Amino acid sequence: MAKKTSISWTDHTFNPWIGCTKVSEECKYCYAETLASSYPAIRTEWGKGKPRRPASENSWKDPIRWNKSAKREGIRRKVFCASMADVFDPEAPEGHRARLFELIRKTPNLDWLLLTKRPEFIREQLEEIGVWDLLPLPNVWVGFTAGNQENFDKRWPVIREIPAVVRFCSYEPALGPIILPPDTVGQLDWLICGGETHPQKYMGRKMEPAWAQEIRNQCLQKRVSFFFKQWGNWIPESGHQEWYGKTSATFSEKVELLDGMQWKQFPVGKVNRK
Ligand code: SF4
Repeated sequence: MAKKTSISWTDHTFNPWIGCTKVSEECKYCYAETLASSYPAIRTEWGKGKPRRPASENSWKDPIRWNKSAKREGIRRKVFCASMADVFDPEAPEGHRARLFELIRKTPNLDWLLLTKRPEFIREQLEEIGVWDLLPLPNVWVGFTAGNQENFDKRWPVIREIPAVVRFCSYEPALGPIILPPDTVGQLDWLICGGETHPQKYMGRKMEPAWAQEIRNQCLQKRVSFFFKQWGNWIPESGHQEWYGKTSATFSEKVELLDGMQWKQFPVGKVNRK
């Protein structure tokens, strides 16, 4: 349940468990649910009351290994946690969140990118395991997903109050335009923008080019590092959008370009920010 990853904005992914419950519009075509239903080795049913699948003991050793090589090479590595779950899921397997934060403490050469759609549970859950008063942790970046303005306005005020060296937003899948509010200046460090992709033959919801251009311009104005991940299954082409599908060579050439160029900025952390 841990691996070198194809996700362009991280070096590794780690899943302390697999499984989740859909909570908002962004989850509608959850790729993790599709993957977990397609492969017997990780088969997990999604939903409230369905047991989450804990990571194997071997998987828990992977970050220790990555930490050692990061230290040896003198290069920090990013770990996205979790790509097949939500770290702040109230139905996480007993003791696993505490074990995760213990692992985070033991791996100071890794930057842990905790991305959630449930920021409202962060404080309570971290208090429960005795971590809240230790924030900000030097190697934890706290992120939230917002595919539209409604979810941005709901989740950002919560994330804004979490002490963190980096706060970030995953605008993926982008489902509507987002205007960044004034209080993101100096507080939101990084935004990742992307259209919807899906592991099965599914068309995906379109990201309008104007949404991507507009959020990039706002990020540049507000000094928020901007990472354009990919268009998703629909790419702008001669004034309209075409569906390419993941197997097309043309798709792989153009999928990461916004206005003809790549945008792969990363944030500079703010140590000790409360
Ligand atoms: S929070 Fe993430 S893992 Fe959970 S259902 Fe939504 S998209 Fe899937």
